[in-house]
Amino acid sequence: MRFHIITIFPDIFSSYLNESIIGRAVENKFISVKFYNPRDFVKDKNKNGYKPVDDKPYGGGPGMVMRAEPVIKTIEKVLSKTKGKTKIILFSPSGKKFETAYAKKLVKQKYTDIILISGRYEGIDARVKKIFKTEDISIGNYVLTGGELPAMVLIDCVSRQIPGVLGKYESLEEKRVSSSEVYTRPEKLVYKGKSYKVPKVLLSGHRAKIEEWKKRKA
Ligand code: SAH
Repeated sequence: MRFHIITIFPDIFSSYLNESIIGRAVENKFISVKFYNPRDFVKDKNKNGYKPVDDKPYGGGPGMVMRAEPVIKTIEKVLSKTKGKTKIILFSPSGKKFETAYAKKLVKQKYTDIILISGRYEGIDARVKKIFKTEDISIGNYVLTGGELPAMVLIDCVSRQIPGVLGKYESLEEKRVSSSEVYTRPEKLVYKGKSYKVPKVLLSGHRAKIEEWKKRKA
């Protein structure tokens, strides 16, 4: 699956996407992540020497709005490179709530290219959504300063649904019961004089009982 991220802050992503499971998924070519900066699609510098990607909102109010034209040009550039089944997602705090089920669906429906548009400031001129009929996605009921974290959340959650990404341990939840309560060594942990033990059932070796316990704790 190819992720195409439209952002004016591409440097935000590198440390997260280069590490651990997601880093390996990129290295092993299960996914690829490319960046496109709308600023590169602004021709003229303003009087301060900047290429402006934002402007004042019509109707007034504080904050700036990301201009439609640079974002449209960026999307067109990405679309000129994509060949397969493509989805355009625009991050917005008022969008449809992102869930694991949605991540699974993207993989099952065999999308090859996912375009992720990360907004900044007060958001992106609403005409971008109208022109490209983007899907608006929110990652939760809170407002962030930009759509970059949401893009990383989506990439992380979708990538671990791609067969092979989690490796040989078949860690994917749908093939087993996953529990929110997990333990590793030592069997007995002592902290400030009190001892904390691993639940006996997990040490019993009794498969069926363990599965039942995990289901209860899921
Ligand atoms: N005034 C805007 C807030 C913009 S927040 C509004 O009420 O909609 C700036 C950008 O951050 C948004 O364009 C979006 O891309 C991103 N963002 C902030 N919170 C988000 C969330 N919970 N989910 C997805 N994107 C979010």
